[in-house]
Amino acid sequence: MRKSFFTLRKKIIIIFTLIIVFPLIIATILVTKDLRHRAQLEIDRHAETAFNIFHRYLKTQVRYNEIRLKNLSLDHNLKNMLNNNMTDETGTFLKNFEGKHGVFQVGVLYPDENGKIECKAYSSKNICDLPSVIDYNTMGKGEILSSYFVCSEDKSNEKYMFVISVIKNVDTLTGKSFFIRMILKFEKCFIDDFKEFLNLNLTLYTRKVSFLTTFFNADGIRPLGVSLSESQNAVLNNPKFTGIWKNNLGQEYFSYYRYLESKKEIAIEISIQKTSIKQTSNMIINYLILLLIISLILAAIAGFALSKNIIVPIKILSEATNEISQGDLDLTVKMDRNDEIGSLADDFNVMTSRLRKSYERLQRKIFEISTLFEISKNMSFVNDTDVLVEIIIDRAVSALNAQRGSLMIMNEEIDKLEVKVVRGIPGEVRSYTRLSPGEGIAGKVFSSKQGMLVNYGEDDPMFLRSEIPEKEMKILSLICVPMKAKDNVIGVINIINKNSDNGEFNADDMNLLNAIASQAAMAIENAKLYEQSITDGMTKLFIHRYFQLRLEEELNRAGRYGAKLSLIMFDVDHFKNFNDTYGHQTGDIVLKEVSKTIKDTVRRDVDIAARYGGEEFAVILPETNSEEAVILAERLRISIADKKIPGPDGKELSVNVSLGVSEFPLHASNRMALIKCADVALYYAKEHGRNKTVVYEKSMS
Ligand code: GH3
Ligand code: MG
Ligand code: MG
Repeated sequence: MRKSFFTLRKKIIIIFTLIIVFPLIIATILVTKDLRHRAQLEIDRHAETAFNIFHRYLKTQVRYNEIRLKNLSLDHNLKNMLNNNMTDETGTFLKNFEGKHGVFQVGVLYPDENGKIECKAYSSKNICDLPSVIDYNTMGKGEILSSYFVCSEDKSNEKYMFVISVIKNVDTLTGKSFFIRMILKFEKCFIDDFKEFLNLNLTLYTRKVSFLTTFFNADGIRPLGVSLSESQNAVLNNPKFTGIWKNNLGQEYFSYYRYLESKKEIAIEISIQKTSIKQTSNMIINYLILLLIISLILAAIAGFALSKNIIVPIKILSEATNEISQGDLDLTVKMDRNDEIGSLADDFNVMTSRLRKSYERLQRKIFEISTLFEISKNMSFVNDTDVLVEIIIDRAVSALNAQRGSLMIMNEEIDKLEVKVVRGIPGEVRSYTRLSPGEGIAGKVFSSKQGMLVNYGEDDPMFLRSEIPEKEMKILSLICVPMKAKDNVIGVINIINKNSDNGEFNADDMNLLNAIASQAAMAIENAKLYEQSITDGMTKLFIHRYFQLRLEEELNRAGRYGAKLSLIMFDVDHFKNFNDTYGHQTGDIVLKEVSKTIKDTVRRDVDIAARYGGEEFAVILPETNSEEAVILAERLRISIADKKIPGPDGKELSVNVSLGVSEFPLHASNRMALIKCADVALYYAKEHGRNKTVVYEKSMS
């Protein structure tokens, strides 16, 4: 399966980021923004409050001045002194008043003939440059006019703020108007108190030039006489408090500008340092960032825990599935947990175990089928029962992974089971036990037609003592099954001591062996039938047709390899007479005895002996020349002649044979010609006295 880029792990990380980190970042941005806005509002309010306090303070000072002025104008002593023109006394009185009330200056002013207020009568101090903020001529009697303003002093260029209040009075004696003026002076440090109290800086401007400030420059001097810039001026005319300015020290301030009175003579600058606000908001932002980091750590821990608890087990399961898909069915997932994932792992293991079992069953079936196929393939072209039983026992022992085995065939002539072949048993301990049906385990299996499985070895009481071999050949486990061809049992197969599975056979072994046994039985039966079909019933030699086939075959082979081949044909002498004299049955016995002699004389598995006709025989001798053939022919002739056959009246009888020999390719190059040559030689022998061997010669034909 193609792996997607968005693995579960990545998806969880994305989800965590989306639900925790992303909203937190948004919140941080929003809060930061809002915080700045709120801070700005807070600063505005602070500045507004500061302005109001400062403004109210000034107004109060004006009001006090006015009240003191009013009280002074009503003072009888002063009135008396003024009515009696007591100039010196009035001066002293006013001086005392100034000292007593902390007033900068108190004076009584009279206008001249032109109405100008130039006469500074009784003034205790001579101050100049007082701006004409009060229009004396417009005043009514008893009216008080007040204002605050700045004034330069003579001695230095420093400026101070003054509050000046004036009241108009009329001299009762002369009827002349005069004015009492009271001036209140603010010391330079008075705004420093505000600075302390309001926690901000103040600068006062007159005609847009600073004259009082709480700031100090780098030299520790208050920077005065600084003009408002154009932009500051623009803000000044705007009713709103706005603007961030750098002061002359390069520090950043939120500064607010406003006129203190309607005449716009004096303006105030309220400055709040930016760093202090920034510190507050930065602190909150830092807290937020800390919160963000903590959240990230928590998200990471949660993600890790989630990963450990869910993703890791899922990954294990996924890898296990992958390994199973690669064929590793022995895999089990170990997960010690009681939740859904635990039960998923359990189910997974159950599934694998079932898969493993069915795979094993399947493998077993494949093994059984391929074993059977292999056996049947090996047996299908074998017609020789002896070879066949060898193959059967070999395959059965290896298919059942056993130590050894044996195959017993029923010899019907003696009605006993005989061991036909054994495997894995040394020659000296081979048991050639013969068992009757029903006797011992093999006998029981034979007669009951049912297989037996014994895993208790020789302890099983069914074992016959004779069945128990030598110590080193101890039987620990055994399977014995009948070889059934249709319903006929022809023998049994014994398989002894399993090499695997604790040495015990199981039902699977039994099934496989049964299948092998039934196939073996069929093959043996077929081989028997085939043998019967090519064998002469009386003599047990090959029949004429088979002889012809084999001769053709052997000649082809000899031709291919450039080998020689000889053919012996022989015929019983005067057999007609023999039959006539001793009867046909005795003749048959003779023929059987002659056949037996032939079998005993010729080379087993090499020479091919056949009954050619009634009392005529033929022997094919592959890779043999005529000289060697003559030796065998003579041995045959003599053996047959020496054979004593009991006659009907107890007389010992014997027969002679005449033999003709031909050689391939010396005498003939094909089957018919070779037979003809041997026949000619045989005829020659008959003609020349019988009971002899004659090799073909050309002159004979
Ligand atoms: P010779 O071969 O020596 O010339 O004389 P012969 O008497 O043997 O002559 P021939 O070969 O012509 O005779 C064959 C006889 O073999 C005829 C027949 O009675 C006998 N015979 C053939 N087949 C059988 C058989 O299966 N059983 C018996 N008992 N005799 C058989
Ligand atoms: Mg004959
Ligand atoms: Mg004859």
